[in-house]
Amino acid sequence: MSEPVLQLKGITRTYRQGESALAVLSEADFVLFPGQSVALVAPSGAGKSTLLHVAGLLERPDAGEVLINGVATSRLSDDARTALRRNAIGFVYQFHHLLPEFSAIENVMLPQMIGGLSRHQARARAHELLDYLGLGAREKHRPAELSGGEQQRVAIARAVANAPGILLADEPTGNLDPHTADHVFAALETLVEATGLATLVATHSQALAAKMTRRVTLDDGAVREMD
Ligand code: ADP
Repeated sequence: MSEPVLQLKGITRTYRQGESALAVLSEADFVLFPGQSVALVAPSGAGKSTLLHVAGLLERPDAGEVLINGVATSRLSDDARTALRRNAIGFVYQFHHLLPEFSAIENVMLPQMIGGLSRHQARARAHELLDYLGLGAREKHRPAELSGGEQQRVAIARAVANAPGILLADEPTGNLDPHTADHVFAALETLVEATGLATLVATHSQALAAKMTRRVTLDDGAVREMD
């Protein structure tokens, strides 16, 4: 079997407010392999976003280790973590967070240019990705000129623009009607199948979770397999 792209080992994350402490993650372990699409299904407040932020190196845990492609990250500098995140991890959120003044294709080009590609190279890859996601005819439109489902597909294209091995998504279809959500999820599945990308998707949707290869939940701050 191939090496895991993401490993969480004994992750603990506690939020302190004055005297009180809220243990959101407690000894959480999780392993994600290439090509897996895993649904993270748990009630609001259970710690899904916290888990995704820790896994995506946006937040440091209080204890435990996050390994990205086998690399332990706890002792890396913030700059090294940022570089690793930029190359290895893509994010999709409930709201698209596209830059409003840029076109769809420019939004997908930007992370690649920040990563060092020329404008020409970035444009070629952005075009290919948007075309692949059925947005070829929409690439010059700004976010406000796109439907909610189209905006989310652009956000997915942007998230995978630097060809990460891991895609983390926090309620990516939570803001869409069921039909559009299906369409957006199908786009995600296509990418997973074509690229061997591994995805961890926090969702409330049982229908979406049922289509994924694995389902996990959070139980008192620990990750538990659901089936
Ligand atoms: P979910 O994504 O499952 O809804 P979250 O990870 O957003 O859960 O939050 C888990 C718990 O941690 C919630 O009770 C939330 O209020 C709390 N929490 C999240 N972020 C912070 C923070 N920065 N400071 C204090 N408490 C937080």
